[in-house]
Amino acid sequence: MKFATKVIHAGTEPDPSTGAIMTPIYQTSTYVQAAPGKHKGYEYARSQNPTRKALEDALAAIENGKFGLCFSSGVAATDAVIKLLAPGDEVIAGNDMYGGTYRMFSKIFEKFGIRFHYVNMQEAENINNYINSNTKLIWMETPTNPLMNIADIEAIAKIAKSNNIILCVDNTFASPYLQNPLDLGADIVMHSATKYLGGHSDVIHGCLMLNDADLRERLYFIQKSCGAVPGPQDCFLVLRGIKTLHVRMQRHCENGAKIAHFLRNHPKVEKVYWNGFEDHPGYHIAKKQMRDFGGMMSFTLKDGSVDNATRVLSSTHVFALAESLGGIESLINHPASMTHASIPREERIKNGLSDTLIRLSVGIEDADDLIEDLNQAIG
Ligand SMILES: *Cc1c(COP(=O)(O)O)cnc(C)c1O
Repeated sequence: MKFATKVIHAGTEPDPSTGAIMTPIYQTSTYVQAAPGKHKGYEYARSQNPTRKALEDALAAIENGKFGLCFSSGVAATDAVIKLLAPGDEVIAGNDMYGGTYRMFSKIFEKFGIRFHYVNMQEAENINNYINSNTKLIWMETPTNPLMNIADIEAIAKIAKSNNIILCVDNTFASPYLQNPLDLGADIVMHSATKYLGGHSDVIHGCLMLNDADLRERLYFIQKSCGAVPGPQDCFLVLRGIKTLHVRMQRHCENGAKIAHFLRNHPKVEKVYWNGFEDHPGYHIAKKQMRDFGGMMSFTLKDGSVDNATRVLSSTHVFALAESLGGIESLINHPASMTHASIPREERIKNGLSDTLIRLSVGIEDADDLIEDLNQAIG
């Protein structure tokens, strides 16, 4: 089945009790049993819920995986993956990744004796320098947030496989429309479904997709034991969101390309970070592993003062100044003080994330209005 058909039909059957074409919101905590232990596969809603089940099946299908698991947020999905580990285990993670992931690794899990190495993954071989017998997990993001750096999923999967290490890819930025890491050898795909999958900025949700049945059992055990499960209404919203993922993404990509080119040609813009430029250092890998280039980008201004960046960030009318990304509406963001404030300044600057970098999540409005808005804001 092709992607556009899968997002609409995968995982969802008409409701068996009524024929309702849309999976109902099963707002229940428990299920009646005919006799002790005799039930219809549903015992208690932390462990199973039919709305969640429909979504998990749909998510698995669109990432070309066998299994999906849903969580109450993207970070809860990440948390579940790290709970596969034990004290003494080591993780190799990207040095330019979502600030909340870095915060969880460094502030929560380090104190439980898990060791994290932050590595520039644009050269896959860099990873080899950090592998030892304790290395159990590689955590990668591509494209990265917010610098749009690209790492080669296939090359890193080979390194992981040959060393018996689990590879988890945070695929939030690309979405399954643009990139399917399981097909390239990853073991687990993680998404903040809050972003493109939900797509309407109205829900916090996370998920994992994978193929290995044993790994699925271990993660399901963590999901039900630790209990960071989403409610059925949130599952319904994500299920509804992904039915239009392909048309939304198509427009995000079209608008993204127009805006990236507009910015690049603007005399007051210094640098644009967008994977679709042929001189982007990750262009060829992006072209190989992604179907298009998406609507995420960052840029800096020639007048590189914080005041000037602040002025632009405060002067847009269509682009809303807000954290998050991947919704239908365009957002403008200041990573240094907003999404990435949890990364120490020194660490940020070292990785190329300047105080004046501006990030855009280009929405699906009319591109002319978006360009006009940025043009007047940049001035
Ligand atoms: C938002 C985000 C997360 C965290 O997801 P939440 O749903 O906010 O918990 C993780 N990774 C990336 C790349 C994100 O953008």
